[in-house]
Amino acid sequence: LDSVVIVGAGHGGVQVAISLRQEGFGGRIVLVNDEPGLPYQRPPLSKAYLLGKINATAMLFRPETFYADQRIELVHDRVAAIDRQNRRVMLDSGSALDFGHLVLATGAHNRPLNVPGSTLGGIFGIKTKADADLLSPLVKQAKNVVVIGAGFIGLEFAAVAAAEGAAVEVLELGDRPMARAVSPQMSELFRAAHQGWGVKFNFRTGLAELEGEDGKVSAVTTSDGRRLPAELVVYGIGVIPNVQLALEAGLDIDNGIRVNSSLLTSDPHISALGDVAAFPCVQNGENMTRLESVQNAVDQGKLIAARLVGKPAPYTALPWFWTDQGNLKLQIAGLSIGADNYVTLGDAAAQQLSVLCFRGEELIAVESCNRPGDHVFARKILARPPALTPAVAAAPDFDLKAWEA
Ligand code: FAD
Repeated sequence: LDSVVIVGAGHGGVQVAISLRQEGFGGRIVLVNDEPGLPYQRPPLSKAYLLGKINATAMLFRPETFYADQRIELVHDRVAAIDRQNRRVMLDSGSALDFGHLVLATGAHNRPLNVPGSTLGGIFGIKTKADADLLSPLVKQAKNVVVIGAGFIGLEFAAVAAAEGAAVEVLELGDRPMARAVSPQMSELFRAAHQGWGVKFNFRTGLAELEGEDGKVSAVTTSDGRRLPAELVVYGIGVIPNVQLALEAGLDIDNGIRVNSSLLTSDPHISALGDVAAFPCVQNGENMTRLESVQNAVDQGKLIAARLVGKPAPYTALPWFWTDQGNLKLQIAGLSIGADNYVTLGDAAAQQLSVLCFRGEELIAVESCNRPGDHVFARKILARPPALTPAVAAAPDFDLKAWEA
């Protein structure tokens, strides 16, 4: 293998490049990025960066010199098409890049609002540094803020807006915060905390319409007919994987670019990872799963780099995640899909709580709020060899003795 072209310089793409050099890969590495500037980390965009607690330089993965030193070519362009037959990608600028192996790390875009008024000014999803740079001065001035969706990003932003002194209303179709991702006990702790910060929740409530004045949003009409004033609306209602390139190139798609347990697409010269990839997830019963987390993008990046230098392994890393909201740090180890039994440790009233999530007799996830020690041990416990799965046993070079050790 003499060259690797990586599409997208987010957490996944950058990790592949870094790990390839760490693994001793001596060939050409090209990282194609359609965002301006040096590659940066996304999590602070909806929290510390908006609050001005960290600056843009602190968000960079690496300084500019690193890429030159490591001979990682950063190309500011957009990959427009993949020519699989000739192993070449075409760029918007009109040039082309040949690849020995191609890595798709194109991430995901925000699911857009689709109600009347969605194109007014003052309405934001948060995905890029450019979004956060536009939003940051507005959140400091806004008196009335409406957040659509009580998921991680919506609630991180709600906490920021409340801290900046705005009146914050959250609309949520479900009946509790972060319902798809955390236990009822953890939702309750976060509901109480947000209410303490002055955030008002509207559960089982959708968005009907956005009203404007002079091209800017001025109010929100809820699905139950109420009108809430708003100079600023932020939505976080899920993401859509950026599969277009892969789709047009004829790769298999399955709620994301479909990859096998080695993170190879249906073309053996193309890998995919991170937010855009659907993989057979050991912790989710081998079902095709797409995870949106830094851990997933980083660990998958390391695995692909290792495979490309001749050290293949199936992807089995334990998923983990964090979110910061106000003074609360929630850390989640494992996946709680299908949990039916919960045991709590600590004290919810003191905002220090861990929830052990069981499916039947099996511990599958641990959610810890302001209990970092629990999170560390939970990761160790949950990462102990999971029961041997058919996919792992079927991997090339699988050996029972090595597995047991
Ligand atoms: P991305 O980081 O999205 O990178 C993909 C890149 O590819 C983008 O820059 C995109 O513009 C580029 N691209 C796409 N198509 C092309 C093309 N054709 N040509 C060139 N470039 C292209 N995760 C956590 O674990 N904890 C958190 O607290 C957390 N907070 C978050 C807060 C926010 C506001 C956001 C948006 C995400 C957060 N996440 C968090 C999720 C985490 O950031 C993502 O899971 C992670 O960034 C995924 O990495 P990725 O490499 O798959 O994609």
